[in-house]
Amino acid sequence: MPESNRTIDDLMSLVGSSYASPDLDLLSRAYATAEGAHRDKVRLTGDPYIVHPLAVAYKLAEMGAHVNVIAAGLLHDVIEDSEISLNEVRSSFGDDIASLVDSVTKLKKVKYQGTDRYVENLRKMFLAMASDVRVVFIKFADRLHNLRTLYAQPRHKQERIAKETLEIYAPIAGRLGMSDFKGELEDLSFAYLFPKDYERVHDIISTKVREKGAYVSRVIDQTEKLLAEAGFVDCQVHGRVKRLYSLYRKLIKYDNDLSKIYDLIAVRAVVKDVEDCYAVLGLIHQKWTPLPGRIKDYLSQPKPNGYQSLHTTVFTEDGETIEFQIRTREMHDLAEYGVAAHWRYKEPGMSPIKNLYWMEELAKIQKELSDKKDFLEQLEIMKIDVFKDRLFVFTPNGDVIDLPEGATPVDFAYAIHTEVGNKCSGARINGNIVNLDTPLRSNDVVEIVMDKNRRGPNADWLKFAKTHHARSKIKDATRSTVKGWLSSMMRRG
Ligand code: MN
Repeated sequence: MPESNRTIDDLMSLVGSSYASPDLDLLSRAYATAEGAHRDKVRLTGDPYIVHPLAVAYKLAEMGAHVNVIAAGLLHDVIEDSEISLNEVRSSFGDDIASLVDSVTKLKKVKYQGTDRYVENLRKMFLAMASDVRVVFIKFADRLHNLRTLYAQPRHKQERIAKETLEIYAPIAGRLGMSDFKGELEDLSFAYLFPKDYERVHDIISTKVREKGAYVSRVIDQTEKLLAEAGFVDCQVHGRVKRLYSLYRKLIKYDNDLSKIYDLIAVRAVVKDVEDCYAVLGLIHQKWTPLPGRIKDYLSQPKPNGYQSLHTTVFTEDGETIEFQIRTREMHDLAEYGVAAHWRYKEPGMSPIKNLYWMEELAKIQKELSDKKDFLEQLEIMKIDVFKDRLFVFTPNGDVIDLPEGATPVDFAYAIHTEVGNKCSGARINGNIVNLDTPLRSNDVVEIVMDKNRRGPNADWLKFAKTHHARSKIKDATRSTVKGWLSSMMRRG
């Protein structure tokens, strides 16, 4: 599994060729500092430590992050691992890089403490992100390289890191629209967490690629020819194979019925502008018959994370079907890099590419955060976006309790205290008495009616309790009730 290590020369040539006028001197100074700081350290893989910050910096350069971010990537482990202080980083590299390095160092102190602490961790990550999303890019690149070299870690550490990645990092990457990162993080973690399923899905994909490879290249050739003859310029056609973890999730959703999955291998056409997207769709439909119900216009109706493309599945030769995804270059970059596309190969001062939805919001928030105006209000807006699957309800005292979507007063009661759950006999939402299985909505004020004489929870609550916490408390308490009941029966008998 080891991959070849990046050198400083690789980094320099990548940056030199993809950026307009990069400060290469800054990068070589940052490299020299990092190399000196980590000189005596060796990774578990047996490599000198410097290969790690180099890999992180290289990934950031691939993303098109600004050179300051790449330099911070080179320096990200320096403060923790060496005698070099933050002040020294600041005096050599300036405030911006020092603040990035400082934030990444602080973020390391956020430790994963199991699923129950998930939201809390997510929130801490999020707070770090809200102050500067570039910190999260560095953290993702750091995590990615650690996953790529995870084989060298002991088993218990592999599991913890893979689980944490799947539960915290990948969803955040998803919310930020960074599907490239999300996919890589998920597939690497998947291999460690569910090795058997990973093997199975891997086999499915490689068999399909073997079977359909020649066919897909034919379709690509035909499409390229079609577009060229119709006079389209500035377009690229390529194949894309579905990511392993994403296929695994989809197989679960469709009861392992592979025939229901149309996008295992898709053909992507990246074209000049929106008009061309629709024109190309028309051309494809003229050549091949579309499958009914499979035409999706995410151009006029983007997905909630801003994703835009036209999708269609068509019958080609011999009854074969294939999905096409048609989009502009800008949409393509946004789909792959999400919020990071915003900064791709941009120097400070250049205006960011025209953008959509919350990405625009995010840019505004970043700007306003720098002068700390409306900090909390802006945080609220972001929170709604990032925590879309969560709901926030209030106790009568005004404390905020966050719960997953679909949670009920029983979940709320156990979130407050086990005794409140166990003694719960009814609930009021916004002053009205409701059934205990009523789904809560954000901003509800929830009050639990307790019965001091109540023996414990009702096992039927398991039918609607949503949180792991409430469910395990109910199981614990009902199990001991049943046990008590059984033993009293035995005594009687
Ligand atoms: Mn690191």
